[in-house]
Amino acid sequence: MLEKKKIFLGFLSILVVVICLGGHSQWQLSKISQNTDDLYRHPFAVSNAAKSINFHLVCMHRHMKDVVLAQSEAEFNNAVAEVALHEQEVLKDFDIIFDRFLGNKSQLNKTYAAFIDWRPIRNEVIELAKLGRNSEAVAITKQKGAQHVASLNVLVEGLVSFAASKAEEFHSHSQQSAENAMVVNLLFTVIALSLVIMFALHIKRSLAQAKKDRSYRSHLIDQNIMLATLDKNAVVKDASSALCRFLGLRKQDIIGKDSHFFDNSDESAQLSEDILASIQTGKEWTGEIKHYDRNGNIKWASSTILPNYDADYQVSEFTNILVSITNKKLSGVDKLTSMLNRRRFDECIVHEMRVAKRNGYNFTLAVLDIDFFKKYNDHYGHPQGDSALQQVSNKIMTYINRPTDYAFRIGGEEFAIIFTNLSKAESQAYLEKVRKGVEAIEIDHQKSDVSPYLTVSIGACVINSESNLDEQQLYIEADKALYMAKESRNSVVVN
Ligand code: GH3
Ligand code: MG
Ligand code: MG
Repeated sequence: MLEKKKIFLGFLSILVVVICLGGHSQWQLSKISQNTDDLYRHPFAVSNAAKSINFHLVCMHRHMKDVVLAQSEAEFNNAVAEVALHEQEVLKDFDIIFDRFLGNKSQLNKTYAAFIDWRPIRNEVIELAKLGRNSEAVAITKQKGAQHVASLNVLVEGLVSFAASKAEEFHSHSQQSAENAMVVNLLFTVIALSLVIMFALHIKRSLAQAKKDRSYRSHLIDQNIMLATLDKNAVVKDASSALCRFLGLRKQDIIGKDSHFFDNSDESAQLSEDILASIQTGKEWTGEIKHYDRNGNIKWASSTILPNYDADYQVSEFTNILVSITNKKLSGVDKLTSMLNRRRFDECIVHEMRVAKRNGYNFTLAVLDIDFFKKYNDHYGHPQGDSALQQVSNKIMTYINRPTDYAFRIGGEEFAIIFTNLSKAESQAYLEKVRKGVEAIEIDHQKSDVSPYLTVSIGACVINSESNLDEQQLYIEADKALYMAKESRNSVVVN
C-alpha cells in the first residue's frame, strides 16, 4: 500500500475512534442529566409535596382542636380560618402530586378521596362547636377525626415511600449509565491510544527509512555525479566527492574559492567572463571545460550551469553539473566513421610535417567538404546523412595506401587528407581521383545543384621542405583553396 494511503487511513481510524469516544460520552452525559432532571421533577417534587401535606394535616388537626376549645367567637373564627388556610396548602400540594406522580394513580386517588372525606367530619365538629355543643365536638375530634387523620397520614406516607423508591430507581439508573459510560469510554480510550501508538511507531519507522533512503541517495549522488553549487560570483559553496576526484583536489581546496567554472586552461578567464555574463541573466549555459590536474594531465568535461532562484524569483546561486568527456576526447577514433578524429589530426599533422621537412619532401594538406550536405540531410533525413558520411569516409580510406598517407574526419561533413612527397600537379591528380571516387559511389542527391549524386569539394595546399608555414597557416591556405573549389563545387583546387 502506498505510504500516503497508509497515513491517511491511520489518521482516519484515529479520528473515527475519537469521534465515537466523544459521541458516546456526550450521549451518556445527556442520559445522566435526563435522569437527574427526572429525579428532580418527579420523586423529589412528589416526596416534598407529600411531606408538606403531612405537615399541613397535622396543623389542620391541631387547629381543629383550637376550634373545639375556643373561648371566644374571635378565637373560634381564627381557628376555622387557619384550618381553611392549611386545607388550601394541602390542595396545592395534591395538585403538584397529580401533575408529577409517576406511580399507580388509584393509590393517589384513594389518598385524595380520604382527604376530601375528612371535610364532612370537620364541618360537623365546627357546627357542633358553633352551637356550643363542645363536649360532642371534642369527642368527634378525638375519635373519628383523629382516626381519619391517622389513616390519612399513613396513605400520604405511602406516597412518600413510593417517591423514595422511584428516586432510588432513578439513582440506580444514573449509576448504571455512569458505569457503562466509564467502561465504554475506557475501551475507546484504550483503542485510540493503541492506534496512536501504532501510528506513531509506523511514522517513526517510515521517517527513519526515508532518512536512510535519502542519505543513501545523497551518498550515491555525491560519489557518482559531478556537482557543485556556486554563488552569484561563481565562488564554490559545495562540491560533490565525484567532482573533487575528477579535479584531483580536496573539498577544502575548492570550497570558498573562485570556481572559474572548473576550467583552468589558458582560455579560463575569458570563458568565465562569458559564462557569467550569460548565466547572470538567468540563462542556462552548456559547454565544454578543460581542466589540468596537478600532474599536468588534461581532462575535459561537458558542463551545464543552471540558475537557482530565491523566494523572490531572483537568481541566488548556480548548480553546475559536469560530465567527464575525457575518454571521448582522448580517443583518437571518430565513432561514426571509425576514421581518425580532429584531435589525432592536430597531433598527426605537426608530426608528419616535421618528418617531411626533415626528409626534404613536399607535404600536402587537403580539406574535403561534402557539397550541399545540409540539403541532403533535410531531404533524406539525418540517419541517411550519417550513412552517407560512412560511405564517403570508406571511399576516402580506399585512397590511403602509403604509410605517410592519413585521412581524418575533422568536422561534421569535413575530412582531411595528408600525404607527402607529391608535387602540386601530382597532388591535384591524386585528389581528382578521390573526388571522382566519391561521386562514383552514386549516392543519390536530388537536391544537389552540381550532380545527381553526392559530391565533395576539395581544397589543398602543397608546401616544400623550405616552407616556413606552420600547421595552422597551412590549414588556412588549404581552407582558402576549398573556398575557391566551393565556387564551382565537385572540384579540386590546389595551391
Ligand atoms: P556546402 O556545399 O557549401 O558545403 O553546403 P553544406 O550544406 O554541405 O554545408 P553546411 O556547412 O551549410 O552544412 C553542413 C551540414 O552537415 C549541416 C549538418 O547538419 C551536417 N552534418 C554535420 N555533421 C553531421 C553528422 O555527423 N551527421 C549528419 N547526418 N549530418 C551532419
Ligand atoms: Mg562544411
Ligand atoms: Mg558542405
